[in-house]
Amino acid sequence: MEKIKIAFFETESWEKDYLESKLNGFDLVFFEEKINPDNLEKISDVNVLSPFLYSTIDKKIIDSLKYLKYIATRSTGFDHIDLEVCRKNNILVSNVPTYGVNTVAEYTFALILTLSRKIYHSLQKTKIGDFSLDGLMGFDLNGKTLGVVGTGNIGSRVIRIAKGFGMQVLAYDIKKDQKLAQKMGFKYVTMDSLFKNSDIITLHLPYNKLTHHLINEKTLKLFKKGCYLINTSRGGICDTNALLQGLKDEIFAGLGLDVLEEEHSIREERELLSSDFKKNYDLKIILQNNILINQPNVIITPHNAFNSKEALIRILDTTIKNIKSFSKNKLINSVKNNDTV
Ligand code: NAD
Repeated sequence: MEKIKIAFFETESWEKDYLESKLNGFDLVFFEEKINPDNLEKISDVNVLSPFLYSTIDKKIIDSLKYLKYIATRSTGFDHIDLEVCRKNNILVSNVPTYGVNTVAEYTFALILTLSRKIYHSLQKTKIGDFSLDGLMGFDLNGKTLGVVGTGNIGSRVIRIAKGFGMQVLAYDIKKDQKLAQKMGFKYVTMDSLFKNSDIITLHLPYNKLTHHLINEKTLKLFKKGCYLINTSRGGICDTNALLQGLKDEIFAGLGLDVLEEEHSIREERELLSSDFKKNYDLKIILQNNILINQPNVIITPHNAFNSKEALIRILDTTIKNIKSFSKNKLINSVKNNDTV
């Protein structure tokens, strides 16, 4: 019987070693880069693709892989995969649903504390030998109100940590888990009320048509003046223009962003030179991102919240289970066209 051929994209050498040691009996190929027209020719006979976040799996890619049967994305989010095209072509898709629950929740607090205690500014000063406290006064989290938008896996872990800091928590979700609210001591409110009453707002939502630009110039008007906004979900949930406007109007005292709209273009500078550039990216947003990055009260990290050693091992272990189950015709962690992460 012919071996199932799997192409892994965006893998580092330690991940290659780990996967090779656990996936005996499969034919494996590895690429450090994301999927692109140059490496596409080398995988024309693959049955399984395993991308990470930055490989866009669209109709063009799917149409060119005649033997493709299954995509095992090594991420929670799957907005980089065209599920409708997969469905039409009978290609199954699975993800890694919960590898990063504590990892992303802890990172959310890394961003919050960096802003609340001016850690970045403090470091900048001491690096140049300035040990004065000028401009370094922060604020306590204890007693402040945290607004958590999305109380799924990550959002609920954020609430647990917030409670440890002595924060009040307001939450909004389309699916309310009142038992969880009672158990953890937080309150579901409307989104408007959450924006109006929170000192810090943190987003833990999937990116989809409903959540696209949830933070926009209209909703911006609802926020409490001088609040902080944290986004570790997806860049497209916030309209970049509204973020800049909110800073200008001092609605936001600070922003902690692990994700940006058009972040792919920043990550891959060579994309800027490609002929497809204008088609794929919005130049205005890229320029606005540059303005954001240079604001003193804005902390931007490169989609790094998932990136802990333990989380990466969990990603690989779940992907291995996903692939082995697929090979036995038992799909686990399956993603369907109407799912929304
Ligand atoms: P989850 O599915 O467990 O929770 C999402 C919650 O959002 C659910 O409770 C759902 O009911 C709610 N929701 C969905 N649509 C909504 C809407 N329109 N309005 C209000 N609530 C809505 O997901 P999760 O594991 O908590 O992950 C949350 C997000 O974090 C995902 O988008 C994922 O892509 C992102 N993420 C980012 C990183 C990173 O490295 N920055 C890592 C992992 C996950």
